Amino acid sequence: MDEFSLIEKYFKPLGEVSLGNQSASPNVVMGIGDDCALLNSKPGHELAVSLDTLVAGVHFLENVNPVDLGYKALAVNLSDLAAMGAEPAWFTLGLSLPEKDERWLQDFVHGLSLLARQYQMPLVGGDTTKGPLTISVQVAGWVPQGQAIKRSAAQVGDDIYVTGELGWPKLGLDALQGKSDLSDADFNQAQQHLLRPEPQLVFAQQGRQYLAAGIDISDGLFADLGHILKASQVGARLNIASIPIAQPLKSLAPEQRFEALSFGDEYQLLFTATTHNKNAIKAIAHRCGVQIAKIGEITAANTLVDENGQVITAQGYKHF
Ligand code: ADP
Ligand code: MG
Repeated sequence: MDEFSLIEKYFKPLGEVSLGNQSASPNVVMGIGDDCALLNSKPGHELAVSLDTLVAGVHFLENVNPVDLGYKALAVNLSDLAAMGAEPAWFTLGLSLPEKDERWLQDFVHGLSLLARQYQMPLVGGDTTKGPLTISVQVAGWVPQGQAIKRSAAQVGDDIYVTGELGWPKLGLDALQGKSDLSDADFNQAQQHLLRPEPQLVFAQQGRQYLAAGIDISDGLFADLGHILKASQVGARLNIASIPIAQPLKSLAPEQRFEALSFGDEYQLLFTATTHNKNAIKAIAHRCGVQIAKIGEITAANTLVDENGQVITAQGYKHF
């Protein structure tokens, strides 16, 4: 089977958004098959575009299940759309494969299809090459004009919130590498968080008008908060004790908890909002079934400190 038959057999079906009961996506005039896809614009909206690359051995273990890999490749990109408050529109896929393994490809495409269906997001194009296993996914989504949630919009006095419970992905990776000992229930929960993160799209879209600044946690809580502080030219005081953290981490020493919070790969949302919006945000989170916690405030200082005034020096994941 050549490259073109592979595309026809495995990728084209992901473009047919008869994923639900619709016959075609309103966003797509023409998808996979020509030199370019032809896409519609949406009046009154801006197109939010993002790309993330996953490299074998860097972002995932070589022996990872291809269903999980396909899921995560789309999940981490959808999380970027969530962080802007955007609604998914379509995605493209750049795939470099060491060999033609149809069983692997079938599973990988299945993983992609889980989120593509859930969010009615068709695959509209891409590129397929032979080489070391690398997956690039580009996503695009709509955000009403001028309403994107930006890193640069935090204001002094804003509350700082986080969704979900942090620390599970680090526990999950440690357990896979035999570095931690978890109960079966905790092991399963940690794997779920590591392999199948849930992008916070619904909460972000519904809460968009009440949020000031926002980012998704990929590099670690402190590093990602640092991105908001730098872009907004403000500081922050965190109440470390109020950060929701995975149960198995609670009994560990503070340094180990700090390390787990710095690990990243969480795909929870970190955001700020004026205190006036507190009740509206709580109500939306409740309606979406999303846990949120207030973990600190934005300050006029240009430092990040804890509840005792100690400076937190964030060292997030850096490739270079
Ligand atoms: P070209 O040589 O014109 O760039 P390609 O042979 O790379 O075209 O691709 C043919 C068609 O298949 C294009 O529409 C392209 O977007 C699509 N395609 C190729 N690889 C993928 C992929 N991995 N996922 C989705 N679409 C793909
Ligand atoms: Mg071409």
